[in-house]
Amino acid sequence: MPISRRPAIGSMLHTLLSLQVDRRKGIAMFFLKANTAAPELSRIRSTILAGVRSFHASLLLALLSEGALGAVSIQLSAQTKSADSPSAEQAATLTKATAARDAFVARIHADGYSCPIPVPTILVEDVPSFGQYDEKTNIIRTSDWTLLNPEERAFFFRLSGPGAKEADVHRTFEQGAHGWIFIHELGHWWQACRSVAADRGPYQVEYGADCISLAYWREVDPAIVDTMMPIFKNVLANALNPVPAGEDVEAYFNKHYQELGPSPAYPWFQSRMNVTAYDEKPAPTFAQALLNPFGN
Ligand SMILES: [Zn+2]
Repeated sequence: MPISRRPAIGSMLHTLLSLQVDRRKGIAMFFLKANTAAPELSRIRSTILAGVRSFHASLLLALLSEGALGAVSIQLSAQTKSADSPSAEQAATLTKATAARDAFVARIHADGYSCPIPVPTILVEDVPSFGQYDEKTNIIRTSDWTLLNPEERAFFFRLSGPGAKEADVHRTFEQGAHGWIFIHELGHWWQACRSVAADRGPYQVEYGADCISLAYWREVDPAIVDTMMPIFKNVLANALNPVPAGEDVEAYFNKHYQELGPSPAYPWFQSRMNVTAYDEKPAPTFAQALLNPFGN
């Protein structure tokens, strides 16, 4: 199975008692030790899901209750048509993301700017918060619908509102991850191009990337702005404000950035930044956003 190639599998062997794969039924059973702690179960589950994705499928998990001897069973739909296989979809995502990156860079050149570092390399893989730019490697990671785990899909179902069909949710994901977030990550690349990030706190860096994404989509495809803004406003209106009363939002974010990044509170902060950027008057043009890559 592909999971044997995952580096994380080695570290879970002390917990994994046995593995049975029934290819005919398309089921894999993972038998785990009793009293496996909940965080460990969650980690194992993610590792298994990541490995099994190359079989593709909608994944069916019988969840373990904490401390019980049990099994995680995963439905592998081996009969998936090749046109729907993750590799084909991920290849298509990479092609689209490459075109989006090149269009963004072309727009920068059209506005009379250039960057001393090369355009970033794109990797399609499951990534926390659905996008990430790493300045050290100059790599942008972007996710794909076929790579999302059930929790991540559930997140987009919630964002899409009650009664949303899978096609609507998929569209929300495309506009969010491959529209808004992908350009936000390119915004971080642009900040690196200007090599002026060092003295900025994380809040300002994130806010600046949002301003770049907003100004870009206002000029290139305002429909993306029209889709995303109600989502951000909705998150702000309905999600719990994670900042303790009396604390300054930006100072709190800067102080706890490392823990907040992968936490469920992160969308609240990003939503606040995006709504603030949207309310800025007069709205900066893309050229102005490039000139002030940390916002005003
Ligand atoms: Zn960011």
